[in-house]
Amino acid sequence: MVESIAERLSSLPAMATGGRVARLSDHFEAERIGALLVTSATNIRYLTGFTGSAGIALVTPSDFVLVTDGRYATQAPRQIAESGCGARVEISSTDQRAIIAGIIAAGSISTIGLEADHVTWSAQQKFGSDWFPGLDLVATKGIIEKLRRSKDAGELARIEVAAMIADAALASLRSTLDDGPTELEFAGELDAAMRRLGATKPSFETIVASGPNSALPHARPSSRRIVEGDLVVIDFGAVVDGYCSDMTRTIAVGEIDDTSSRMIEVVAAAQAAGVAAVRPGIAAREVDATCRRIIDDAGWAAAFSHGTGHGVGLDIHEAPGVGSTSDATLAVGDVVTVEPGVYLPAHGGVRIEDTVVVTPEGCRPLTHSTKVSAP
Ligand code: ZN
Ligand code: ZN
Repeated sequence: MVESIAERLSSLPAMATGGRVARLSDHFEAERIGALLVTSATNIRYLTGFTGSAGIALVTPSDFVLVTDGRYATQAPRQIAESGCGARVEISSTDQRAIIAGIIAAGSISTIGLEADHVTWSAQQKFGSDWFPGLDLVATKGIIEKLRRSKDAGELARIEVAAMIADAALASLRSTLDDGPTELEFAGELDAAMRRLGATKPSFETIVASGPNSALPHARPSSRRIVEGDLVVIDFGAVVDGYCSDMTRTIAVGEIDDTSSRMIEVVAAAQAAGVAAVRPGIAAREVDATCRRIIDDAGWAAAFSHGTGHGVGLDIHEAPGVGSTSDATLAVGDVVTVEPGVYLPAHGGVRIEDTVVVTPEGCRPLTHSTKVSAP
């Protein structure tokens, strides 16, 4: 697997960055905006390929510009050219307002969309009074996030190799759970293994939760030593070229009690049913309900205390949500997780999670680590 990971990393297919801004502009009329000011770094990356942490992108019907500061004078033009997104780059540390206001004025634009989920209160006040006085500012929600749902072949290739890296890292280390590492030690080894295999970084702070800690769905790794009889919930992922993977496995160390064994059986059945339910056209909340029914039937309704899953891409948690309140309908190209769990303070917790891509026929899992619960 390691060789194949290296091969894939060295020949990642291009992403279809060039077509994204046109798909975005198609939404302007429905959103009643004449331009969109993009301030989320992740959304800027999606539209332009620029990976810097500071910048603003402005999309108008006739212009597409990335404005960033002098720190990125070399990086920004290079990444914009490489991505083929078609944006212009303006570098300025002091006149960003004037550059953007000039483009708005030149386009006779009177209504500007802001990304409501990514603009602070103070930034909104600044845009309203200093940057765009007299113009209408519109709070838009999730326009680019919706575009990001449907992954192109290049994006899928990145998520898939990130998942392969996580699989290989866990396979290389799972037998060491018998040696009694602390949660922090095991998490550290996992992170290091992913980096050695080619990950930029972990997708999020790796969760290794053992024994009583496993009953906390989002425990942070501690100095607790893993011992015989523990359930160990390991939830982690790798990042490749900005794209995340996400997977959870629960491993039983030595002999576990009957309730813990039953928890593993039930969660595994719920998770398999959830994955089997994923197909284009299904309501995301129905995938959640499918998992929940099996756990409810086992008498543990209250012990499944979170949603079934979420979209995965440039962000570890992105659209669509896969929970009981989700209004999303799954579509080809969505990448989502299916991760039911049961948490009982007296016994511990079990969660099993795969990341899958929705295909015309149903879905294809991208995470493949064995679900056998022994180390
Ligand atoms: Zn996870
Ligand atoms: Zn997840």
